[in-house]
Amino acid sequence: MQIGHDHRNDRSRSPEYAAVQGAIDALLNGPSNEIPDFDEYWQARGPAENANAEDYEVAGRRLFDFLITLRKSDKPLALCDFEIDIGAAKIVVKPDDYVERSDGRLVFRRIWTGRKTSNATESLDAAAYQLAAGRDAEVEFVFLTDEVAAPISLSQKKIKNRQDKIVDAVGKILSGDFPPNPNRTCPRCPHFFVCGNPPDGPLIKKNLN
Ligand code: SF4
Repeated sequence: MQIGHDHRNDRSRSPEYAAVQGAIDALLNGPSNEIPDFDEYWQARGPAENANAEDYEVAGRRLFDFLITLRKSDKPLALCDFEIDIGAAKIVVKPDDYVERSDGRLVFRRIWTGRKTSNATESLDAAAYQLAAGRDAEVEFVFLTDEVAAPISLSQKKIKNRQDKIVDAVGKILSGDFPPNPNRTCPRCPHFFVCGNPPDGPLIKKNLN
């Protein structure tokens, strides 16, 4: 399964987001512990012409710096997929970051540039991450705008409850219950969580600067 891309209303296409995400991706996927040069990414992709460019840059740099501070004592490990076998299908969890802490504990992280939502650490994907981590690793959901790295630690009862919901959702996906809806945009389209490539047809920009 892949998360679909919003081809009609996508905040992630803004230049400030692209610049910050580029620097973050380089930090997380770099072959060594080297810290990429944020300025390079900002100059290449940031909103130079925008009247608020300076404010955006300060905000973007703060997100990037928080992530650097968070990982300061960690040893980055090669990113890899973790699978959960749920019978009829396999769920592949792709952490954004996988590290060994200075005390030897393994942690994998999901990282958002935005704010923490009220149920983020109790959600189905939190459960999927915890199931994928098993006993070998800990899980953190990181929200850069809030400068929060929230540990995921659901009780066995909650894990079981969410696992049942995941199995139910996968069964519905496999039986075609979530077809694309041409009148919707991501992420409101029912096909969003199973969308691979966007369907044929023109891409329409909406509400973008
Ligand atoms: S089919 Fe739905 S989820 Fe996929 S790209 Fe189009 S609007 Fe987004």
